[in-house]
Amino acid sequence: MTKMWGDEPYYGLDEEFDPQWFLTEDQKKLQKELIEVCRKVLRPNAIESDRNNTYPRKNVDALAELGLLAAIAPKKYGCRAENHVGIVMIAETIARYGCPSTALIYMMHMVAVAGLVYRAHGNAEIQKLLRRMDKDALIGTASYTDPETGGHFWYPKVSGAKRVPEGWHVQKKAAWTTSSGYADWYISQTTSPDFKGNYADLSVFLFYKDEVKGSAGKWDAMGMHGNQSGPVEIDAIIPADRIVGWPGDGAKSNDEAIDPLAMLMYAGSYNGVALACIDVAKRHVTRKAHAQYGRRVADYPTIQDSFGRAVTDAQASRLFAFGLAKALDDATENGSWEIYEKDPNAMPRARFSSWAFEAKLLSTRLSSVVSDMMLQACGGRGYMRDLELERLVRDSKAGWVMGPSNEITAQLIGKWALFGPEAIDWWNQRVDEPVLMNELGKLDEAGKRRIIEKLRSELTAGKAAQ
Ligand SMILES: Cc1cc2nc3c(=O)[nH]c(=O)nc-3n(C[C@H](O)[C@H](O)[C@H](O)COP(=O)(O)OP(=O)(O)OC[C@H]3O[C@@H](n4cnc5c(N)ncnc54)[C@H](O)[C@@H]3O)c2cc1C
Repeated sequence: MTKMWGDEPYYGLDEEFDPQWFLTEDQKKLQKELIEVCRKVLRPNAIESDRNNTYPRKNVDALAELGLLAAIAPKKYGCRAENHVGIVMIAETIARYGCPSTALIYMMHMVAVAGLVYRAHGNAEIQKLLRRMDKDALIGTASYTDPETGGHFWYPKVSGAKRVPEGWHVQKKAAWTTSSGYADWYISQTTSPDFKGNYADLSVFLFYKDEVKGSAGKWDAMGMHGNQSGPVEIDAIIPADRIVGWPGDGAKSNDEAIDPLAMLMYAGSYNGVALACIDVAKRHVTRKAHAQYGRRVADYPTIQDSFGRAVTDAQASRLFAFGLAKALDDATENGSWEIYEKDPNAMPRARFSSWAFEAKLLSTRLSSVVSDMMLQACGGRGYMRDLELERLVRDSKAGWVMGPSNEITAQLIGKWALFGPEAIDWWNQRVDEPVLMNELGKLDEAGKRRIIEKLRSELTAGKAAQ
């Protein structure tokens, strides 16, 4: 079947290159509607956002009109109860046919929605927000990264919360937050109210925009110009029911809700960016001809080789993402978030964590590599703005550096593969005794005595403080 772009056949890869067998008939219908909204609304705004550094609010409104903001929330809150396969398809479609910045905005929004739906049961405030989300086009975001800990977003070193008579007093500084100053609501993670030094003791809170100091309009970056990922500061007293879950629930929330959804959304979004590059490059190389040889650029075997490798790598990453999404659907009663009502400690999504990180690594590496290949295939014309490849190349690079960066992610997967999940040591709590003893072995007697004295006085000071 020929894929259409308005009244014309789509200029990029046709539907035979799409793994449609993962989608239900409803999802295929939604995909078609979304492609049309991308053509008419998201894509023109992508160009405008990129040129003028503006937040694509109209794109968010268009997604709300399709009922996509609370897409994964249960039907009982008036939402679509979209499964993992559906959400990967939506992210890929937005990035591929519409606007990568909007895909990233949608990704951070959906990560935050996952945090909420995970603990919606028994919290009327969260349920109210989910019910209103599409009707009132309420865009959210996840403000996690502390300035001091870089891309290790699970490690909020300088943020904290206290119990107060009114509820919670939360103080948070985030170096980066998508939709900063534009979001209607935020979820954020800090150390827990009764924090005693264990950084695995985390809690999640919900804020509305008047409780957060964002930084609208300050985003000045290489690409993803519409994303507006700026610093956020929170110093707010919020009601008791704004804790998402309960004190100390943050690490579980990361493993079961935030990480699986974030990594799947990375995969959908950056696979989409890679496909967008292939699509616009295909349009160019099949139309541009060299008069001296009577050949199109696409007729050169080197160009065909480049497309062959790019398409194959893209398909591998897409199959990985959709396959993982399907496995998650099978493990969760078709993507249900109501399973935690029966058992709040159930962790079916976390079982797939290593796969989820692999999906992030594959897709963000794909978009970075394929965007370069397509730029080279298009030559000097690819370097110019009107082809739209130049914007996509800049947008394609963000996923690699976003937390956890691909260096950290690869290391994490490698460590897991070599030594098991316990070796990962998310919060830097394990003593590396072989290294410690090796370093101590380098000291002479005086040096060792100096260390002994230092440790002795630390122990004495600790005892006195007790
Ligand atoms: C477009 C965009 C949108 C974003 N949106 C959000 C958002 O909505 N919410 C949010 O919370 N954050 C967001 N972020 C932040 C993001 O998730 C990361 O926190 C941020 O990109 C990290 O940047 P940094 O300069 O602090 O990197 P650093 O962590 O300082 O890393 C610098 C370099 O050191 C390497 N490195 C770091 N640690 C290790 C290690 N242990 N081993 C090996 N190498 C290491 C990294 O790979 C990288 O090459 C966004 C970032 C971008 C670019």
